[in-house]
Amino acid sequence: MSETLSVRADSDDLFDVLYDWDRVPVPRSLREFTARRANIGSPLDLSGVWRFRELLPFAPDDQIVTIGEGQTILRPSELVAKYVGMQPGRLYLQYEGLNPSGSFKDNGMTAAATHARMVGAKLAACASTGNTSASLAIYASATGLFRVVVFVGSGKIAYGKLSQALDYGALTLQIKGDFDDALSRVRQVSQEAGIYLCNSVNPFRLEGQKAIIYRVLEGLNWEIPDWIVVPGGNLGNSSAFGKALQELRQLGLIDRVPRLAVINAAGANTLFQLYEGQGLRWNDGAPDQALIDSYYADMDAKQRRAKTLASAIEINRPVNLKKCLRALAVCDGVVREVSDEDILDAKAQVGAGGFGCEPASAASVSGAKLLRAQGVIAPSDRVVCILTGHQLKDPNATVQYHAGGDGGHGAGRFRNAPVVVENDLAKILDVIEQALAV
Ligand SMILES: *Cc1c(COP(=O)(O)O)cnc(C)c1O
Repeated sequence: MSETLSVRADSDDLFDVLYDWDRVPVPRSLREFTARRANIGSPLDLSGVWRFRELLPFAPDDQIVTIGEGQTILRPSELVAKYVGMQPGRLYLQYEGLNPSGSFKDNGMTAAATHARMVGAKLAACASTGNTSASLAIYASATGLFRVVVFVGSGKIAYGKLSQALDYGALTLQIKGDFDDALSRVRQVSQEAGIYLCNSVNPFRLEGQKAIIYRVLEGLNWEIPDWIVVPGGNLGNSSAFGKALQELRQLGLIDRVPRLAVINAAGANTLFQLYEGQGLRWNDGAPDQALIDSYYADMDAKQRRAKTLASAIEINRPVNLKKCLRALAVCDGVVREVSDEDILDAKAQVGAGGFGCEPASAASVSGAKLLRAQGVIAPSDRVVCILTGHQLKDPNATVQYHAGGDGGHGAGRFRNAPVVVENDLAKILDVIEQALAV
């Protein structure tokens, strides 16, 4: 089966999908993509990824695998704008929780599934903190094109995500260790057994994730925001965003790029440490490998493990580190770290503002607030925060925030604990009156 592999487990960490743009019939105006949204009878035009297919032209139309991914929305939130410290109307949320499996991962997985089909793969695998496995598993169950093996770390996966892999029928292997352990193992297993690897070392996934940027710009009527703020885990998204923007500029479809802010959780902050702490840069394609190596050697010597409630970004060895450095160079980027406490407060505000996301996603909002407080983002800037995953992915984190802790009153600043009341009309009316002053 190994001759079907074109994405090898040992692939170079700058392995990219590149196109000869002169031979691609790219529409001359971005508005032509928007016009396709009216074609609701066409699965490719309906997809929020393949609607932009000339911008990721690696597959013939009849090979494309789509399950209706990318029907996501960009909306302003006044409550979140106020929380972040922005002027009204300047903060937008790109809600990727609306994807079929509930996270942005579907944008990439539709592209990886397409490539897997092109090479005739019958078995696909990934390591996952949860959302990648949910996404890969739904593409397999929805299409029947291949079987799936997913590797998850023991005790490290939110139940919403684990429940998806199980329901969609993936062979789910819980191995001892964390995500970084699971990833290095699945790379080895894929190479040994000739299994198609779907982690974001797979460059086709990043091709699909470029579509998030296209939809953000489309949502702004093809205007360029000042900032795009995204959580950073394995750094696939940030890398894809940089590639998308660089290509759009190269194609003459946009004339400037927004600035990019990548937000780590403080408990999984390799990029922040290296980029902001030690000055690691893309350096025209020659980042300081010795600096990276010594950082990881020190991390191993001290047995430092990633630790954050934002499980989707609980990653200490981001596989797309170098591609992300390139994106930061393209977009004059910054990196910040935020605490779990700040992430959960931001998440509660996202919910109160009418969206709802999982903890990792709220790192973007928390990071925007920090950058605003530091004066890096101005109150009048136009800022887009990417909400990467749906609120229902990790209900435990939410309930714990609102209602957990001592006495069930919750630990969070914006807690909203359920009120225990006797099944008695007068008492119930009393509680309502006290709580809501009606
Ligand atoms: C995967 C994931 C991330 C991290 O994205 P990377 O591309 O790995 O940096 C953030 N949030 C959610 C919800 C995710 O599923």
